[in-house]
Amino acid sequence: MSVWYLAHDDELMLDLDEYMRPTKKKGGVWGEEFFRKRLRDSILDGKLNVQDVYLFHSHSEQHYQAIIRLKESMPLVERLVWQLHLGSDLYRGRCDLMRAARGVLAPSLLIRAEPINAFYREPDRVCKCTTKHRTEDPPDCEVWRELRGMSPWELFGKRNKWKEHGVKLSVGRVPLERIMEARVEE
Ligand SMILES: [Zn+2]
Repeated sequence: MSVWYLAHDDELMLDLDEYMRPTKKKGGVWGEEFFRKRLRDSILDGKLNVQDVYLFHSHSEQHYQAIIRLKESMPLVERLVWQLHLGSDLYRGRCDLMRAARGVLAPSLLIRAEPINAFYREPDRVCKCTTKHRTEDPPDCEVWRELRGMSPWELFGKRNKWKEHGVKLSVGRVPLERIMEARVEE
């Protein structure tokens, strides 16, 4: 079983990869030095009106998810930008924003193997899948089809998994042929 939490109008949903990684400047825990600090400063300066913060593990010890419950509703695009500002995964965030621009029903959501412990509300959807929903290999899942809409490469273009050497680009007007060059390793 998987449970789906769709971001409500008063919720920020963050995907915090490698929460425990050391920060570049001080070498402390990223989640504590970056996520917590940015959230604190936003609250201190009256930019975010926060009711509750929930932090929990996802599929690994390194990977966390956070839900920030606001005291009032916030427009969708603002919520998506806040998620990025607070350190949510960029790859996920760009898809969320593009899905929002394309009018996809639930552009921001979290999928979990089990309901969040001691959370203030129930999940929005439940599906029968027991393995991770992978965009490269979409499962036969009604909820997935209803809510996920387009995959990242439908939004941004197929990713070529070529092994490449760098192609040097000159400063100034860059010839398109250079951009398009694909030096594939044999
Ligand atoms: Zn499913």
